[in-house]
Amino acid sequence: NTTILWFRRDLRLDDNPALLAALADGARVIPVYIHAPNEEMPWMAGAASRWWLHGSLLALDQALHQRGSQLWIARGDSLGELRRIAALTGATQVRWNRLYDPVTCERDTQIKQALRDDGLHCASHNAALLFEPWEIRNGSGQPYRVFTAFWRACVKQLQQLQPQPAPAALPPLHNLPTSLSVADLELLPRIAWDQGLRETWTPGEISALQQATAFLNTQLNDYGVQRDFPAISGTSRLSAPLHFGEISPRRLLAMLRERSVDPLTDPWMRELGWREFGYHLLYHFPHTTTEPLDTRFAAFPWRSDRAAELLAAWQRGHTGIPLVDAGMRELWHTGWMHNRVRMIVASLLTKNLLLPWQAGAQWFWDTLVDADLACNTAGWQWTAGCGADAAPYFRVFNPVLQGQRFDPDGNYIRRWCPELARLPKAYLHQPWTAPASILTAAGIRLGSDYPAPIVDLAASRQQALAAWERIKITP
Ligand code: FAD
Repeated sequence: NTTILWFRRDLRLDDNPALLAALADGARVIPVYIHAPNEEMPWMAGAASRWWLHGSLLALDQALHQRGSQLWIARGDSLGELRRIAALTGATQVRWNRLYDPVTCERDTQIKQALRDDGLHCASHNAALLFEPWEIRNGSGQPYRVFTAFWRACVKQLQQLQPQPAPAALPPLHNLPTSLSVADLELLPRIAWDQGLRETWTPGEISALQQATAFLNTQLNDYGVQRDFPAISGTSRLSAPLHFGEISPRRLLAMLRERSVDPLTDPWMRELGWREFGYHLLYHFPHTTTEPLDTRFAAFPWRSDRAAELLAAWQRGHTGIPLVDAGMRELWHTGWMHNRVRMIVASLLTKNLLLPWQAGAQWFWDTLVDADLACNTAGWQWTAGCGADAAPYFRVFNPVLQGQRFDPDGNYIRRWCPELARLPKAYLHQPWTAPASILTAAGIRLGSDYPAPIVDLAASRQQALAAWERIKITP
């Protein structure tokens, strides 16, 4: 009796339902990872995600070794590899934890059918979410489009959720005949641009648990106040571990309970709720990865002039608007960006620059270590004003006011835009308003040491509102 345990984005042993079910089968368990990027097209993992995946797979393999097992790594066509491994090991069952994006959902359905046709027993489980997207429905049986109502329905059922601990040992498994190594998957960049990632992150389940523990012990109480200040490390930074399944939301819920925090009212738990909502939307409205949920936006007059040039300036953190540039450089260097700054850079791209949200989402996809189709799509559509429960279109973030409010001392800007470091606080968020003498004293020539702003914030805001007026009346 042998079970193949097919790992995907559930790279942990703790609270892993497919693993526990495989053990309960009383079976020999063959842990398998199959690298099949082509099957995820057009959303194959970006460069930063691949970097993370490399570290996470190494950590998983190590954890399996410590329990007497190991990871069988393969590459290519998932169905073909599962069949090959089943034939080599005599496996009669395959188990995995579910994914929810349209492309892999469809693939998994086909694989399940094909393996069943081969006579194998197949089962899938929920490791990634608190609730399956189809479990939460509104009064008329429809999916939710409004977060507050969605989350109210979820919290009623939180009580019943319990994580399951990792098994202490696994059925022994050695010397797998044809396994590749993690290095064979060539996930790391050929040109070493990843120094910032290496300095910032340690992928893997152990590190995720340590990070969660440290955050909950020392920062949770202040989260509601500190979460909006990008210069402070006031958030959990667990988005990549959650995306890769190194830690489960059920485990985090249990950790809150252990600290006598009421998950029903806790503001951090509510953010995990936004993650759930993103998955709910992605599952029920799969077309929204590329198309706006609010169909009026299909006709939005995005700009066509200078689009490539403006997009490149935004990507490189050369817009001349310090808070935006700081965010885009933090992203490039560390593969992560603070949530408030994500909203601000996304608002600048879609509203002031009138560039399509899909272009921003694509750049995030390649550069974020936590790039997640559900959260990224929802985040971009929300900021662009075309998603579920979206910020009203006319609410355009003003990066100068946002900077003055959420980076009042300018520490975030000074860190990521060091060329502005000597500028007094009063001008740091809008260097173009500084008198020439102040700029000279700070050693800045606007336009050469630091860019002049690529867009007039007030005029472009008016243009965005006018563009919105044009589509608003379309049914
Ligand atoms: P915390 O504040 O500690 O929150 C805890 C967890 O809750 C996060 O790890 C994350 O899993 C979840 N979460 C928090 N805020 C949100 C949110 N607004 N929407 C959905 N889930 C949330 N998050 C991603 O994980 N991947 C993405 O690709 C992504 N793209 C985004 C794009 C845009 C334009 C915007 C505005 C937001 C995006 N987010 C994305 C959501 C959010 O910015 C990140 O989850 C958060 O910054 C991660 O930091 P943290 O782990 O410290 O969050």
